[in-house]
Amino acid sequence: MDRRHIVVLTGAGISAESGIPTFRGSGGLWFKHRIEDVATPEAFDRDPEMVLTFYNQRRAQLQSVEPNTAHKALARLEQGHRVSVVTQNVDNLHERAGSTNVLHLHGQLCRARSSADPDWAVDIGYGSIRMGQTCPLGSQLRPDVVWFGEPVPMMDAAREVVSTADVLMIVGTSLAVYPAAYLAHDAPPRAEVIVVDPEAQAGKIPGARIYRDKATLRVPLLVDELLG
Ligand code: NAD
Repeated sequence: MDRRHIVVLTGAGISAESGIPTFRGSGGLWFKHRIEDVATPEAFDRDPEMVLTFYNQRRAQLQSVEPNTAHKALARLEQGHRVSVVTQNVDNLHERAGSTNVLHLHGQLCRARSSADPDWAVDIGYGSIRMGQTCPLGSQLRPDVVWFGEPVPMMDAAREVVSTADVLMIVGTSLAVYPAAYLAHDAPPRAEVIVVDPEAQAGKIPGARIYRDKATLRVPLLVDELLG
């Protein structure tokens, strides 16, 4: 079997069957909150305690869910290929399933960062961030996640990874959040593009093979196919 570079772009849909709701699947509400009330810098300026509590709850919940067969199949794919996972998810289910090369475009729930210096961040596991906890510069800690309206520092690195794909597999993302959605079009012309999403729209990515299936059904089958 020839080793190829398989790039997998994932979104909230891959973790839905582990019990973490997507944004759009719940009618634009995320755990009963409007996204703009919890996932924007303005929300944090307005009510930091509420935003911290919301993310503390998400982090605590993450401890109680497990990677599903789609996450696990992608880890198994490393047995035969060079695999790069580029995820929009802030959960850690790819790593817990065994994937060793994961780029988090939108940050990670299990890390806290300085609100003054985006480059100062620490692992906090499943613990809480409290008001009054500060970085060495003295500014309040916040979740190390990219909120709507903020720059995406990992975007250039992600584009570089996708540009060398032999296969680009896109799983569980509405491709509605930018700039992440541009990555769907960054694979070289020779690359095969495969989309797995029950709501995938025909024609959104010209030439792509589309499977309107749940990730836990289709991703293990595709991994078997790629491993030959
Ligand atoms: P999204 O909510 O916009 O879209 C989710 C997509 O997943 C939809 O297209 C939906 O049809 C699909 N889907 C639902 N169930 C699925 C399943 N079982 N198998 C395969 N696909 C399924 O999510 P997004 O595109 O990732 O973008 C929204 C933003 O939400 C991202 O920036 C991400 O950071 C954030 N987010 C992350 C998490 C997480 O970390 N698990 C959860 C919610 C939102």
